[in-house]
Amino acid sequence: MSRTFFVGGNWKMNGSVEQYRSLIKHLVEAKLDEKAEVVISPPALYLLPSKELVANSPIELSAQNAYFKPSGAFTGEISVAQLKDAGIPWVILGHSERRSIFGESDELIAEKTKAALEAGLKVILCVGETLEQREKNESIDVVIRQLETATKGLSSWDNIVIAYEPVWAIGTGKVATEAQAQEVHAAIREWLGKAVDSQTASSVRIIYGGSVAAKNSRQLAEQKDIDGFLVGGASLKPEFVDIVNSRL
Ligand code: PEP
Repeated sequence: MSRTFFVGGNWKMNGSVEQYRSLIKHLVEAKLDEKAEVVISPPALYLLPSKELVANSPIELSAQNAYFKPSGAFTGEISVAQLKDAGIPWVILGHSERRSIFGESDELIAEKTKAALEAGLKVILCVGETLEQREKNESIDVVIRQLETATKGLSSWDNIVIAYEPVWAIGTGKVATEAQAQEVHAAIREWLGKAVDSQTASSVRIIYGGSVAAKNSRQLAEQKDIDGFLVGGASLKPEFVDIVNSRL
């Protein structure tokens, strides 16, 4: 089955009013692969005004996080219901920075994933091992365990994109080799086949994240089980366009 190539840009806590406007303008005016799905994730503050800027383009918006309760006394949080209400279709969940800096557990990520899907959002679900876990040969076990917990009881995988993001490769300039990434992606697909069904295994997009740049995206995009990227640092640069166009 052919899966639509997916490229997400995670801006993290970067940018200013001036920068987000010019970044989006650059993207909207660029010649992007029409066959690619492009989703950018500015800081929450800039999501609503970004909507107008992407309105006449195929570019979609994602939040970088959300809370699972619909409303209430949760100072500083934004709910999945509020994202839905504001017309933001995507949310990134389980990013390693949320796990390591803000202490998010697999169980919390599971609650968020369930709530986001029930609210009608689409989820970029991030998993990945640390360097220590990779050195102990535990990469695949860790990633599958994270996935198993985060998706327990899920009734449909239609609105999930899995992002394999080895922690040691995020923001470090140390990109996984094509073989390293492909090996984990293939293992995730195999797990989907066993834990869910073969149709899901062949249709779910599994994207790679971790120091993706224009200079390495083409080789990675050629791998059988790599269906796109989640891009951090390079999504704030003009080269993001080249990454989106990796398959042209
Ligand atoms: C990310 O934040 O999801 C990421 C992959 O970052 P970078 O591309 O900067 O490594």
